[in-house]
Amino acid sequence: MKKVIIIRYAEIFLKKKNRGFFERAFENNLQRALKGYTYELIKQSGRYLIENFDEYETEEMLAKLQKVFGAHSFSVAQETASDLDSIFEAAKSYCQESGTFKVDTHRGDKKYPLTSIEISREIGAKILEYAKGKLKVDVHNPSFTVHVDVRDHGKALVFGEFIDGANGMPVGTAGKGMLLLSGGIDSPVAGYMMAKRGLKVDCLHFHSYPYTNMQAKEKVVDLAKILSEYTCGTKLYVVSVTHIQEAIHEKCKAELMITLLRRFMYRIAERQALRIGSQCLITGESLGQVASQTIEGMTSSNSVVEKLPVLRPLVGFDKNEIIEKSVKMGAYETSILPFEDCCTVFLPEFPAIRPKLSEILREESKLDVEGLIAEAFASLEKIEL
Ligand code: ATP
Ligand code: MG
Repeated sequence: MKKVIIIRYAEIFLKKKNRGFFERAFENNLQRALKGYTYELIKQSGRYLIENFDEYETEEMLAKLQKVFGAHSFSVAQETASDLDSIFEAAKSYCQESGTFKVDTHRGDKKYPLTSIEISREIGAKILEYAKGKLKVDVHNPSFTVHVDVRDHGKALVFGEFIDGANGMPVGTAGKGMLLLSGGIDSPVAGYMMAKRGLKVDCLHFHSYPYTNMQAKEKVVDLAKILSEYTCGTKLYVVSVTHIQEAIHEKCKAELMITLLRRFMYRIAERQALRIGSQCLITGESLGQVASQTIEGMTSSNSVVEKLPVLRPLVGFDKNEIIEKSVKMGAYETSILPFEDCCTVFLPEFPAIRPKLSEILREESKLDVEGLIAEAFASLEKIEL
């Protein structure tokens, strides 16, 4: 019997007018996720089918598909002829030894001689007979359900379960964003969340080599790779801010190190975003999580961004909620590796919690802001993932 993967879409549905645009993006992303596998992708109304693939690769392919935003659920079904005996043969493999069940039928072929209720009843009767008293029908709260989908051309699909998809919108349908990617837990999750809303996400990382080591950089490359599986490919840029931290350390008040550094990061990020056509910045900030993530801290870093919005998808989340998402996306184990990213170098003992903008501007005026940014851009590297 032939296996078929059913892919049902999530919210794309709702987009009546632009439906074609959303479907094309979704299709492209599915194909990208399945690159290297042999299969056929067939579009039907409201869903896709994957046919003619190597059955031994089913699990692997499903794992890839589960990272494609826009999919609501999947089922691995058996394709059979649509006569009742053939459907029953397939249905048997989804039956448990004992307990209660129901048969749920959807009839795409309106010319089929039986209604969907009649098909369910007939298949249910055959299962009861086959189970010899060990199974009972319970349509309200069954311990398992056999799903039958009668298609055109004398074929039916039979399956037992719905596998969760990633939901959200197809990546690329909401534009492009530039994620400030650190080596921590939060920013990869922030990127994941915005990709889920359809943004194509590219990453920018600031490092302080030689104060931070190569392992710190590798860790960020690994995080970008993990994220990239959800974002349909990600570009990773890295920029050195060592000279900026040194300049701040030398000339400015120690407690403003983080605040001032952040303002440089945001300026560099916006300029790099504009260079590559990104339409927003994304950060992993969460209100009150650390000293620099107060409203005052955010105001200070926002005020240097001139043209783009700054998205902070985690602003209202607790750390444990963020960790849960990090685990779910598969980034957590990498994020907690102990290599420092640049912010821990020159870290003041008591960072300013509510920095005043006037004081920040006074300290910043001691620095050659444009010169330092130019030097940072001279260190810009694009890393192939
Ligand atoms: P994360 O877990 O993402 O590192 P965090 O809790 O350590 O966040 P901060 O260090 O205050 O918080 O950083 C806040 C945000 O600033 C990060 O989520 C990230 O978007 C950005 N950021 C911080 N450090 C870097 C860096 N070295 N390179 C790029 N972006 C950074
Ligand atoms: Mg961090």
